[in-house]
Amino acid sequence: MMDKVELHDTLTREKRELTPSDGKQFRFYVCGPTVYGPAHIGNFRTFVLFDVFYRVLVAAGLQPRFARNITDVDDKTIKASQEQGLTLRAFTDRYTEKFHADCDTLGLLRPDAEPRATDHIQEQIDLIAVLMEKGHAYQGADGSVYYRVASFPEYGKLSHFDPAALQTQATNSAEALNLADEYDRDAVADFALWKAHKPADGENAWDSPWGRGRPGWHIECSAMSMKVLGQTFDLHGGGEDLCFPHHENEIAQSEGATGKPFALHWMHAVHLLVEGKKMSKSLGNFFTLDDLLEKGFAPDAIRYLLVSGHYRQQLNFTLKGVEGAASGLKKLRKLAAHLRVPEDADRTAPPPGSPTGAFASAWAVLRDDLNTPAAIGELFKTGSALLSESPREEDRMGLHKLLFALGIPPVGPENTTAETDAPEAIRALADRRWQAKKDRDFTAADALRAELTAAGWQVLDAKDGYTLEPLAR
Ligand SMILES: [Zn+2]
Repeated sequence: MMDKVELHDTLTREKRELTPSDGKQFRFYVCGPTVYGPAHIGNFRTFVLFDVFYRVLVAAGLQPRFARNITDVDDKTIKASQEQGLTLRAFTDRYTEKFHADCDTLGLLRPDAEPRATDHIQEQIDLIAVLMEKGHAYQGADGSVYYRVASFPEYGKLSHFDPAALQTQATNSAEALNLADEYDRDAVADFALWKAHKPADGENAWDSPWGRGRPGWHIECSAMSMKVLGQTFDLHGGGEDLCFPHHENEIAQSEGATGKPFALHWMHAVHLLVEGKKMSKSLGNFFTLDDLLEKGFAPDAIRYLLVSGHYRQQLNFTLKGVEGAASGLKKLRKLAAHLRVPEDADRTAPPPGSPTGAFASAWAVLRDDLNTPAAIGELFKTGSALLSESPREEDRMGLHKLLFALGIPPVGPENTTAETDAPEAIRALADRRWQAKKDRDFTAADALRAELTAAGWQVLDAKDGYTLEPLAR
């Protein structure tokens, strides 16, 4: 059972239906973090959106296989590890663990594979050797190995770039400075596959047919994605700044080596603004997840805000917006409590093809180019009418599916203590109901809930207790 999922493709600039090309699993790769410090909220916007994408594929029955790499060797990781007096491995382990912890906090599901660059040096060397053999690569006077962009006529097809007009690889497609390749080469467009050892690299070098050195950044994604997912796979994604040159270079490397199509579909997430401006340390709008948690914001609200913008549109992340997200979440949870959505709905998908009831339209827009803001809008539109009706099974399944896809827990940390605004008689009823629920006497619990509803109160359950809210009249 498979639900149709359509997505804009950067390569063809068209919306296309996603189908597993092997008829079984939808295989996709997303460029992961460079682990030299805690990731910032802009990084997490991208990772959260790809998490939603993964979840939608699961819920739609496309049986995704999701790979996301860890970049654990480059100029930044080497420099920072040396400054801290740690081996590269010990240093990058620390920030890999931090990345995992932050992902868990934001409710991201783990990818099916998470290859690390330094665990795949041999695969990268093998791929460079093929490129040398086929005339796509050469060794420069400095000992480094470069990709000859002129040898791959299709170069530029992803970012719709004219390689003849290409002056430099010094800027990327988000117009940020790219200092990844600052070495000697034949043509300005050529980029490093293997970087000859230089004193600043210290002990961080590996033997290769071209002398000691380390792989360039682009080659790791080509080598690891093809190892984990096969030479041709279904989709490749990343932040918009990676479209050029990183993804363009990945295509040149992979297709140059195999002669086969590399990724069949490309997806790019637009970066966010923070308080209306591009994030930067000097503007004071550069936030890590810890910075936001220290300000007292709940992870669920941060995730909800990140999800509330469409992946192809710029999202303005503001501290006020996080506060607003918290009230949106509260409304959704009220609906989830009314429909009795299971507490683990954000972690366990209902079976693909299960009914979506009144939430069919929300599920449909989410599958149409991952339109998260429209899906949330539909959720609220449908949900407000359902609050005054008795819950139906198909609506419960539908909301469960949507909460899973968006990764929103139906029970929040704010629901863990009993509210005291309610009159004593109401609280006594609610306590009896809670006890009945704990005793698994659901008939009694339902009857008591009905009494409370009749008296104008709604019970919202959490793991360790409940809250009471007056029903809107
Ligand atoms: Zn990559």
